[in-house]
Amino acid sequence: MDSKELLEVALKLHGHKCPAMPLGLRAGLAALKKLEVERASNKELFTFCETGYAHATMCFVDGVQMATGCTYGKSNIKKLAYDKNAITVIDVKNKKAVRVAPNPEFQKKGLASEFVQLRKKGIEPKDIPPEIVDPLVDKIMNAKDEELLRISELFDYDFKPQKGTFEWYECERCGEVVFAHKVRIVDGKKLCVPCAQYPEQVGLW
Ligand SMILES: [Zn+2]
Ligand SMILES: [Zn+2]
Repeated sequence: MDSKELLEVALKLHGHKCPAMPLGLRAGLAALKKLEVERASNKELFTFCETGYAHATMCFVDGVQMATGCTYGKSNIKKLAYDKNAITVIDVKNKKAVRVAPNPEFQKKGLASEFVQLRKKGIEPKDIPPEIVDPLVDKIMNAKDEELLRISELFDYDFKPQKGTFEWYECERCGEVVFAHKVRIVDGKKLCVPCAQYPEQVGLW
């Protein structure tokens, strides 16, 4: 996918047009370029993302997922919740990593933009006119890496991903399938976490 195509697909996934998502795309693409790797189809890459759960610019992570192929579904991405927008992308096999952060000068200008002022007033991104958001997105998609980002040198990173299990049990209370790592034994019975913790609520979800 070229970057235009990537942006189109990413917009479908993300749901609205905003500057933070494309910034995540660019950060992810810059990490791949520095590592000299392709987007992960399996779990060739792992990403630590410094974004958190309740702050501006979290949309960044959707762009990162699209660019790197590190996704919450495959679980080869993890939020560190530092409430920052940087990522560290690890080439698992070659044990190399790179950290990519927005250039603070660029990010500060973005945070002073009309788009962000409207967001602060509670206007949803989809209700912000294209004449305000489109130039921001174009600028981010076309800026030079060094204008937009800070890209570290490669460094060694020996990352050991947790091995996924295929072993499963039928919970002896709700009858649903639960994978082995999270089975709980209560009074000799194998239970899923909700049944072990809140047995009185079984059947409510
Ligand atoms: Zn967004
Ligand atoms: Zn259960």
